[in-house]
Amino acid sequence: MQVLKTDVVIIGAGAAGIRAALAASAKGADVVVISKAPVGMGGSTFSGITRGWGIQGLVGNERTDKNLKRFYDEIMQTGLGRCDPELVRILVEESGPRIEDLISFGLRFQKEDCGSYRRVRGCFSECRRAFMTEDFKNVKKTFRSMLNASSAKFIHGTVLELMVSDNQCLGAFVFRAPETLILVKAKATVLATGGAAAIFGDHLVEEGHIGEGYRLAHKAGARLENLEFIQFMLGVKSRGTPRMLPLGELRNGGVFLDNRGGDVLKRHIPDSELRMRSIDARLKHFPFSSRDVSGLIDIAIATERAQGGRVYWHSRKSNQPGEVFHFAHAQNGGVKIDDKAESTVSGLFAAGEVAAGPHGADRLGGCMMTATQVFGARAGHAAACHARRKTRNIEIQKIPESIRMAERFNKQREKTEPIDELIGDIRKTASAKLMILRKERGIKSCLNEIQSAEAQLEKMADQAPLSALKAKTVLAVMTMIATAALNRKQSLGSHYRCDGPHPTAAV
Ligand SMILES: Cc1cc2nc3c(=O)[nH]c(=O)nc-3n(C[C@H](O)[C@H](O)[C@H](O)COP(=O)(O)OP(=O)(O)OC[C@H]3O[C@@H](n4cnc5c(N)ncnc54)[C@H](O)[C@@H]3O)c2cc1C
Repeated sequence: MQVLKTDVVIIGAGAAGIRAALAASAKGADVVVISKAPVGMGGSTFSGITRGWGIQGLVGNERTDKNLKRFYDEIMQTGLGRCDPELVRILVEESGPRIEDLISFGLRFQKEDCGSYRRVRGCFSECRRAFMTEDFKNVKKTFRSMLNASSAKFIHGTVLELMVSDNQCLGAFVFRAPETLILVKAKATVLATGGAAAIFGDHLVEEGHIGEGYRLAHKAGARLENLEFIQFMLGVKSRGTPRMLPLGELRNGGVFLDNRGGDVLKRHIPDSELRMRSIDARLKHFPFSSRDVSGLIDIAIATERAQGGRVYWHSRKSNQPGEVFHFAHAQNGGVKIDDKAESTVSGLFAAGEVAAGPHGADRLGGCMMTATQVFGARAGHAAACHARRKTRNIEIQKIPESIRMAERFNKQREKTEPIDELIGDIRKTASAKLMILRKERGIKSCLNEIQSAEAQLEKMADQAPLSALKAKTVLAVMTMIATAALNRKQSLGSHYRCDGPHPTAAV
């Protein structure tokens, strides 16, 4: 195994990882960035589905006490008591300077004819505050130039394990194709690995988005929270490709039809006044929420599908009807961090979608990108400061079993089909039982299926050690999410328990 020494290792090269690299190298640290996808690819930051994104923030003279307070209050109200108030305060106050950094690196946001920035209302927001990126090529180019402006060394590889001793993170084990294992010994480690939407069968992210950061942090002994809060979006699949449902058309002739052409919403929400109120409320946010009657739309569709029916989207604009699904989109929870973006394990920092705190049960649209910049910068800065302090030089006592497995990797011998099949089935179960309609019986049966999949996996691991490791991650992350969903018995925001009170009960 090769050994590499550095001050700071950053795992992930999305918006959070690149911002962290910039901040750590500005502090004079030696930085290594590791990503399993090339820079500008993979990860949600560079997702081809929306080809760009919105980011919330207050810049320049907009940063008045009144505006900052309104921004803070909106995030807290949207989070329904599950945000960390201190992290929200930081996010709000530092949103502007971080957006100004992006602009200085060449990121272009859309403008009005008059030349001022176009501002839009993010999901759950009443205020036109979010900036929208102008073009996707420019997004990629800007982040590549940010990484180039740092002194970071880039390694294209996958982190399989963290090196941890006595509640201190000391680096990471990396697998680089075709078959190199590298131990990166680092005084500080930043997790910027994004979310885990791809543990579900239906999702809007890259297949590799399986929450490796959550498993790494959990295994290292770090605390995670809010894992039950996940954004699920209504979408349409045509010819196997998912796209977001154009919600606005619900007010303009768009309908959900069942196999026989019946109107799904009329059947599940027979009261026409309630149905119209639900549609109006649903137009205010793309992700599902049980916070108000907007959730009835998603519950109707999920119920129809759970009863074995299929739902199709028809609108004046769509040329061909597509089948409607819920798709996992992004996590609101993850690794618990403090104001320096440090986890509960010393020397292990986290930023971006993998970290929890700035968002709660629901998230103000555009605030995740703000979090990548604000806490990416904080994580990089604090990791570099941490690295300056004297740290113990610890030799590895024991190579983790997963690394031993990876050492046995042989591309020719890797038989992945049985593992892919096993994981494919369990991801379908997660889509059915851990998305919109969560109930105790369903979650428990999902946990049982995970356990039996784990047992089967043990028998297959020798045939395909690397695929088995990936599959273990999927199962471990799914277990964490299912357990969090089981423990929260009351519906809250994106977490709906259909064995508890219905969203209309609160209205
Ligand atoms: C279609 C879509 C549209 C969105 N639109 C918006 C929006 O408008 N506004 C908003 O605020 N949010 C939006 N989001 C959410 C937001 O884009 C993401 O939460 C954000 O980009 C996450 O950034 P990140 O840097 O934390 O992670 P990512 O951009 O996901 O990057 C993760 C990085 O970690 C690497 N990685 C993961 N595991 C490993 C490992 N084991 N070893 C090595 N590398 C690893 C990946 O290769 C990648 O480089 C959207 C998400 C999607 C999917």
